[in-house]
Amino acid sequence: MPTQNDEYARPARPPDTSSLAEVLAAARKCTACHLYKRATQTVFGEGPKNAPMMLVGEQPGDYEDVEGKPFVGPAGKIMDRALEEAGIDRIQVYVTNAVKHFKWEPRGKRRIHKKPNSREIAACRPWLEAELRLVKPKLMVCLGATAAQSIFGPSFRVTRERGKVLSSKLAPRVLATVHPSSLLRQPDEESRQREYKRFVSDLRAALKAAGEA
Ligand code: SF4
Repeated sequence: MPTQNDEYARPARPPDTSSLAEVLAAARKCTACHLYKRATQTVFGEGPKNAPMMLVGEQPGDYEDVEGKPFVGPAGKIMDRALEEAGIDRIQVYVTNAVKHFKWEPRGKRRIHKKPNSREIAACRPWLEAELRLVKPKLMVCLGATAAQSIFGPSFRVTRERGKVLSSKLAPRVLATVHPSSLLRQPDEESRQREYKRFVSDLRAALKAAGEA
């Protein structure tokens, strides 16, 4: 098993192609940072190539790592419910993560999510850039701080900017909101419901912004 001393990260190098399938095939073999060593597989984005909206999370979790698909675990389920309530068809959106391999640490028999660091995010960013270049969504939705900071830099605060339509070098229109996993971590039912409603409201704003683009 790799140790801290094995950690390394250099920028990934996606192929120069207009084929999303070719980019995906290359990402499956990516070894640009050490995260691939302990993950089951690359979890690349999923969705139509001409999707008007791209949702970007942090990294795959335990379920996603096993299934090889983004947002299929508990956070994905709550996101699906919120998307539906906001009037967004998940089939019509492209869903991906800022980092494509699951970073975790063992706790007993469980694999506990570990936040990717800035070097790992930077190493993986060329894959996200390739997805943006090929899908060209009208709106990118950053789910949580890691995705938002990979676009706007480390000083970006989701709490300050959530729900606003912003622009960046990578995508002309970007809206940031919380990661759906934060809804699962709320301390009680009342705050869970309040935060869920705010999340749905941000997704409604995203749908409107994508329609206006
Ligand atoms: S996390 Fe990203 S950069 Fe690191 S090995 Fe996986 S695909 Fe490559």
